[in-house]
Amino acid sequence: MSTYRRLFIFITTLLSLLTLAIMVNTVYNFRDFSFERSIKHSENIAQIVRDGLTAHMINNIMDKRAYFLRKISETKGIEKLWIVRGESVNRQYGKGLENELPQDEIDKKVLSSGKSFSKLRENAEKALIRVTIPYKANPYGEPNCLSCHQVKAGETLGAISLELDISDVRQQGIMTILKIAGITIVFILIAMIAVRMNFKPYLEFFNDLRDSLIHARRGDFSHKIHTAVTAPDIRSIAELYNQLIEKFEKTVGIIDKKLAALVKSGEPECSDPLEKSAETIQMLADIHHFKKTIELDESMALIYERLGRIVEKVMGAQYYVIFAVRKSGNTREVVCKTVEAIPCSASSMTNATECRAFRTMDIVESEQFPNLCTAYEGDFSNYFCIPYAITDDFALVIMLLSDNSGDVSVFQKRSASLEYYLENAKPVIQGKLLMEKLREKSLKDGLTGLYNRKFLEEFIDTINRQSDRSETRYAALMLDIDFFKKVNDTYGHDVGDKFIKLLSRTILENIRKGDIAARYGGEEFVVLLHNSTKDGAVKVAERIRKEFSEKTVHLQGENIKKTVSIGVAFMPEQAKTMREAIKYADVALYKAKESGRNKVVVFDPDMFEHKEY
Ligand code: GH3
Ligand code: MG
Ligand code: MG
Repeated sequence: MSTYRRLFIFITTLLSLLTLAIMVNTVYNFRDFSFERSIKHSENIAQIVRDGLTAHMINNIMDKRAYFLRKISETKGIEKLWIVRGESVNRQYGKGLENELPQDEIDKKVLSSGKSFSKLRENAEKALIRVTIPYKANPYGEPNCLSCHQVKAGETLGAISLELDISDVRQQGIMTILKIAGITIVFILIAMIAVRMNFKPYLEFFNDLRDSLIHARRGDFSHKIHTAVTAPDIRSIAELYNQLIEKFEKTVGIIDKKLAALVKSGEPECSDPLEKSAETIQMLADIHHFKKTIELDESMALIYERLGRIVEKVMGAQYYVIFAVRKSGNTREVVCKTVEAIPCSASSMTNATECRAFRTMDIVESEQFPNLCTAYEGDFSNYFCIPYAITDDFALVIMLLSDNSGDVSVFQKRSASLEYYLENAKPVIQGKLLMEKLREKSLKDGLTGLYNRKFLEEFIDTINRQSDRSETRYAALMLDIDFFKKVNDTYGHDVGDKFIKLLSRTILENIRKGDIAARYGGEEFVVLLHNSTKDGAVKVAERIRKEFSEKTVHLQGENIKKTVSIGVAFMPEQAKTMREAIKYADVALYKAKESGRNKVVVFDPDMFEHKEY
């Protein structure tokens, strides 16, 4: 219920109660007063009658009393008038007139008690006052009743009764009360109009203020207050309030515009410009923090991990895969994921153009068409892939997965925010990629493209640091071309280099992806075979040895062949550390050279007195 209605009801009730109280009080007092007056009036008449009868007695014309009584009873308002003779008078003077006998119990009671009686009797038509006063024997003054009557002083000689019609008094009373009621109602109405005129503008002011505040809470500051109140304090509040929200409207508008120009944060999820601005500022702060953090990250792996967290936070995605795609190699690599299996075909990993998002460089979402991306083989019913080019050669594809189709519309709304994160992170990622490239170059051998000794050292340290080192199995192969010096001396360094490249190719052709091949120095190579059995490692070494010995380098019509000697050692079976394994492989290689070259020799502890290396 509105305040105005409440106030109206309150004041109306209050005034109505007041009117009722006044009316009740007036009715009660008026009735009381009128009754008293009428009784008094009746008693006066009765006394006049008594005095008149006394005068008749003195003048000895009591026999003429009937005329007197009739005349008096004809007085306006007197309904009935009669006198009653007491027993003592009847005894002394004989029975009186017929109508002078007691007419009711009241007459009898007044005669016997000597006390006056008065009573109001009324119905819907009439209001009557009955008065009966005693006529007592007065022993004093003129006349002295005892001089004629043989009674005791104060004895009741008779009684005068009359009924006075006071209907007109009652009528007058009702009219007076009605007038009072009418006047009061008129005053109530005037009071209500005054309340309406004086209070309504105030109430309207507060209602307007409340509406404006509700709008302002929603971020709409256009709702100004217009008040009809003339009171200066209220006018000043309205003016100050309007100035305040005008300021808000302008400031928030400017902030909003500037932020919108700064951030393409997609479709806002809230309509309140203040909340929207706060959200955007929070996003800018988060982006700044993200950028600063990844700038200090040492590896791309860490950056991808952080990007994954951003995907979770910004996109609200629980399941996702981040692919790093290289145009030059047309390959895709998973760099971060929260699902077990890669939800894309194996061929799309080696032929990146099968990935529709990468090929079109546009968002690909499963809701557009069924089977839109032919490379998708996941179990989730919905996918949403966002491609983002970092360099001309390098792009990221962020694949969001969900079984809830409603999530796709959320992804659509938020994808601009994620792109904004990526846009800001782009220069940092570009820098990091460049650094990785440079670092990779510094760890690779220029002639063969294999890893160099520096890489090998770092790799050995990494293996050493691994907590589950005991479970990591490696076979270390140390290779050295036989009589290489002769090639250099006979055909020159260029031919020597050709044999070095030939051996590196032969090595790469015979090892797996997880294995490491490094040029250790000159024409010496180290190969680390991951999780290989002893027999398997020896077989690989034998194959390399054999294939290399069969390969030729053409030189001015001459086919030159070279051989290679290989030493093999195993970790953890023989060596505790990788460094130790390489050392043992070197010892075995020495044995291979010593025992005739072009052979594979497995390390035996007898070859080398084991000492902690
Ligand atoms: P062995 O069978 O005992 O290994 O005899 P070898 O002649 O191969 O002896 P060694 O392994 O000591 O020879 C190393 C030679 O390799 C010395 C150097 O002239 C040559 N060499 C080292 N680095 C390079 C290189 O980058 N290019 C070329 N062409 N030759 C190199
Ligand atoms: Mg050598
Ligand atoms: Mg050699």
